[in-house]
Amino acid sequence: MIQFMKIENGRTAPIIRCDVCSKRIEDAGLALAMWKTKEGKLLEDGKVHFCHKACHEKLDEADPVVWSSSELTDYLRRLVHNTKVRIAEDVGAKLLDELV
Ligand SMILES: [Zn+2]
Repeated sequence: MIQFMKIENGRTAPIIRCDVCSKRIEDAGLALAMWKTKEGKLLEDGKVHFCHKACHEKLDEADPVVWSSSELTDYLRRLVHNTKVRIAEDVGAKLLDELV
């Protein structure tokens, strides 16, 4: 799930939490975005579940529905593209500073 959390230096920042182990996903390269499909149709209105790659088998076992998945990095790139966000290289650090 996506939520706000107190992180290093007491800052509050948006984070993604693993829907299996509930720990923060700190490296998108080690995580997946997963959603349920059956016979080519989206289930749960396309709800996205986030998990560490090491945790995804538990998600599969918990519900035998056919899961589709994407590398979290690719999912986030597509999300940014599909919401027309324009990211300048220095915007991330500026936004972080504003959340103190
Ligand atoms: Zn996890």
